[in-house]
Amino acid sequence: MCRHLAYVGAACSPTRLLLAAPHSLTRQSHAPRDMRGGGTVNVDGFGLGWYPADAEPVRYRRSGPIWADAGLPELAASLRTRAFLAAVRSATPGMPVSEGACAPFGAGRWLFSHNGIIAGWPDSMAELAGKLPITDLLRLDAPTDSALLWAMLHDRLRSGQPPESAVTGLVTEVERAAPGSRLNLLLTDGERIIATAWSHALSVRGDSSGVVIASEPCDSDPEWTPVPDRHAVVATRDSVDLVPINADRSSRT
Ligand code: GLN
Repeated sequence: MCRHLAYVGAACSPTRLLLAAPHSLTRQSHAPRDMRGGGTVNVDGFGLGWYPADAEPVRYRRSGPIWADAGLPELAASLRTRAFLAAVRSATPGMPVSEGACAPFGAGRWLFSHNGIIAGWPDSMAELAGKLPITDLLRLDAPTDSALLWAMLHDRLRSGQPPESAVTGLVTEVERAAPGSRLNLLLTDGERIIATAWSHALSVRGDSSGVVIASEPCDSDPEWTPVPDRHAVVATRDSVDLVPINADRSSRT
């Protein structure tokens, strides 16, 4: 299953988390430690989205392995950004390998990634997908479960739902329609990150410079904390909240 991460904090280059850390996203693409539900490597594309000062996020997505992209090291080194979201993809069997199928998906200030699979795809989603405007369905980046999840989440966000309840409400609704789905979602607007652990690995690390939420810890820093299953993490530069999905807020660290 794919690996993803997001950062908010002091302006920095994405190089460390993407490429240089001992267990960077690039390393997680060919030597992941905690793949669940099939797949051994994450070579079916990658993506990076970042926030230029006073501008909407920019995305760089490619359909090949992250380590084979000659331009990425220079691009990452040239950036200074207060937030970014990146993902490496292991395509679910039957789903296309294409740039459009790679996270981050996005619109306006939002960047989004999904690590997992919708059980019973696509039939299990017929009813929920049918509630979306047809124009959203025609504009999906790819005919994949992740692209549809983004369309459904974006629909909630633009109708004014607070992002935290939009994300947890979507997980609850999709799980009801497609029990046994794996739904690790990752959403950021550049100021906060909302992530879910739903049948997949997820860890969080915060310090004075910022917060990282990642499928797997990127180094041996003891501050990395596993996120319990069926929880959401809501993080800003200064705070990390754990929220049980379907229940009230439990703790603040
Ligand atoms: N099902 C999604 C896709 O095929 C995500 C895959 C994954 O998490 N490995 O793009």
